[in-house]
Amino acid sequence: MFLDSHIYSECCGCGACADICPVRAISFDHIHNGFTYPQIDYKRCIKCNKCRKICAFTKDYNYDNYFSDRVFYGWVIDRDERMRSTSGGAFYSIAKAFLSKYDNYGACIYGAAWSDPYTVSHIGISEISGLDDLRRSKYIQSSTIHIFEAIKKEIDDRKKVLFSGTPCQIAELYEFLGSRYEEQLLTVDLVCNGVASPIVFKDYIKSLEQKRGNKIVSYSFRNKMPSKNSLKYIEIIYENGKRTFTETDLFYICYQNRLLHRESCFICPYTEFNHLSDITIGDFWHIEEKIESIKDQRPFGISMMLCNTKKGIDCVTELTDIHISEATLDMIDFGEVLNESLRPSKMDEFYMNYKKKKLINELFVYVGFKEILSKRHPYLYSRYRRLRDLINRG
Ligand SMILES: Cc1cc2nc3c(=O)[nH]c(=O)nc-3n(C[C@H](O)[C@H](O)[C@H](O)COP(=O)(O)OP(=O)(O)OC[C@H]3O[C@@H](n4cnc5c(N)ncnc54)[C@H](O)[C@@H]3O)c2cc1C
Repeated sequence: MFLDSHIYSECCGCGACADICPVRAISFDHIHNGFTYPQIDYKRCIKCNKCRKICAFTKDYNYDNYFSDRVFYGWVIDRDERMRSTSGGAFYSIAKAFLSKYDNYGACIYGAAWSDPYTVSHIGISEISGLDDLRRSKYIQSSTIHIFEAIKKEIDDRKKVLFSGTPCQIAELYEFLGSRYEEQLLTVDLVCNGVASPIVFKDYIKSLEQKRGNKIVSYSFRNKMPSKNSLKYIEIIYENGKRTFTETDLFYICYQNRLLHRESCFICPYTEFNHLSDITIGDFWHIEEKIESIKDQRPFGISMMLCNTKKGIDCVTELTDIHISEATLDMIDFGEVLNESLRPSKMDEFYMNYKKKKLINELFVYVGFKEILSKRHPYLYSRYRRLRDLINRG
């Protein structure tokens, strides 16, 4: 465990150790590759060891009890709501149904929201109007520090809570609450291909602002462009009203190349069916190749809802504002499953240089040239490749 070993891959950064500490001796001030890690103030520490016991990331679970059962694909019927979601809008539909069903219990939903154009943190909301803040994937790591404590309080007050987040955040929440809260909690996690560095992201936004001489008011990952059959446009809005809309944003390309991932993502135990949540949501990639009649739905996003518990199945099958059908587990495509061999060899060099240089230049050097040229200027890229082949052949 990180608190003893100081091996970065052994900490997923959830903050449970800081939350459980009775004397607040743990802070998340240690930084590595733009991610925060726990640090114990031994002058305060009373050696109760609660921080070590709570850490679930490197624990071995018996997944037999947690195996996924049924899977559904679908999309919210309202086209506007669907367009405003990353995938088919499953999260919005589940969250809205939860708030309506448990209105009398003071229901609340916890999920990831932008705190400002540079930072993502988990927040709690209790009105349907608040759902918009939680909606959409933000691929940088969301801070959950002190959130588990807040959820415990809501549950102690007999409220119903829906928590949504990455699979490691869900595992830590269960560890923090213990099983006695089963009845009051619904958990929704994501098919997660890793989180990107929040501090590198902040530096990236600042360097764009410097380059353009204008402040950024919003950055959003994964917008839909149905006319181009794409779900992966990045939108950046500046204070002066200027807007960029591109598939070739340097930060996003680096994220997709896993250069900005947290070290723990490369040993993540929750990459396929072994999720601890009630429901796992994601994009149902390639389902339209198996069910041809839904091909025209792809450009608008198709959600996957993998039900891991009976509570999850009951919730998904009761949804009314979503077009939903059952699929089979073998139709799921998790993509390239993260493991240590996928940690980019360039990562250490990247961070070493990143500390010294301007970030945009650094990102450009590492992934920019070939990917950006091939996407933005395919003709020039083919000429470049031909020239390179000729040079290689002498
Ligand atoms: C870091 C990350 C990696 C992902 N990787 C994959 C993948 O490889 N394959 C795949 O099929 N799907 C992946 N997803 C999920 C996918 O992008 C969609 O979020 C998912 O399909 C839900 O879409 P939606 O339309 O139902 O809801 P949306 O409206 O997109 O709902 C977003 C939900 O995600 C939560 N969320 C957003 N950002 C974060 C964050 N940084 N940390 C924790 N929770 C967050 C919100 O709280 C909300 O519950 C990933 C999501 C994230 C955040």
